[in-house]
Amino acid sequence: MVSNLLQGKKGLVCGVANKRSIAWSIAQACSDAGAELAFTYQGDKIKGKVEPLIKDLPGESPLYPLDVTDEDGVKGVFSQLKEDFGSLDFLIHSIAFAKRDDLEGEYLNTSRDGYLLAQEISSYSLTLLAREAAPLMQNGGSIVTLSYLGGERAVTGYNVMGVAKAALEASVRYLAVDMGKQSVRVNAISAGPINTLAARGIGGFSKILDVVAEKAPMGRNVEIEEVGNTGLFLASPLSSGITGEVLHVDCGYHCIGL
Ligand code: NAD
Repeated sequence: MVSNLLQGKKGLVCGVANKRSIAWSIAQACSDAGAELAFTYQGDKIKGKVEPLIKDLPGESPLYPLDVTDEDGVKGVFSQLKEDFGSLDFLIHSIAFAKRDDLEGEYLNTSRDGYLLAQEISSYSLTLLAREAAPLMQNGGSIVTLSYLGGERAVTGYNVMGVAKAALEASVRYLAVDMGKQSVRVNAISAGPINTLAARGIGGFSKILDVVAEKAPMGRNVEIEEVGNTGLFLASPLSSGITGEVLHVDCGYHCIGL
């Protein structure tokens, strides 16, 4: 049914670290729907994980090194993308980082450096990538980022990352306003907890999985494919009327009280 949903569309996927990455799940769904994809990777170690994954996708998928703290490097990625793709229809931003020290103990003790680093990588990078993507999205487009409930509520162990996600979600709304003029939509998926590389940095992560499975209306944790399919939905014309939205894909956990 969705096999041609993204036929002829070109997307850039940022944030695949390995086969368990949420970005990879979204990429698979978009590729199955016919999209042509380019990817970024952070560092040579991750390149070695991403290359074997993307070689099984149909066609040639360009792969670029990207560290979002290097603004000139980011510009370089988009000028290369312009040469390779000419234009862009969607961008998947699935990037976050905080120092382990700042994900333990009390938020009160967050260091200045740790705070700024988490904001730069996990929040500001969306604005940076959106700005660079905008000239390539002359026919409109869709930008999708990944958030978590810890941006709305104080989740034990999420600390500085929760504050970064709050800024990320606010950025989604402001970018939606600015980019709506050129028919570019900007949305976030607030995913339930999923066992990935980034999640392993969060103190007590397995306890979070247990609590959600027990209390979520659907009585289970979300499957990564469900987040991937939502990424496809938001990247595709099926969501053409949706922008500035934070869509919870968490088996309903966000809606419960006590
Ligand atoms: P992941 O570790 O697979 O992905 C995180 C990605 O961020 C990696 O590819 C990493 O290379 C990239 N990254 C970190 N610093 C970077 C930098 N300076 N420059 C470029 N890339 C950088 O983990 P994931 O869980 O798939 O995380 C993807 C997104 O989903 C993150 O924004 C995360 O906060 C969000 N999220 C995850 C969960 C979960 O439970 N796993 C839940 C909700 C939201």
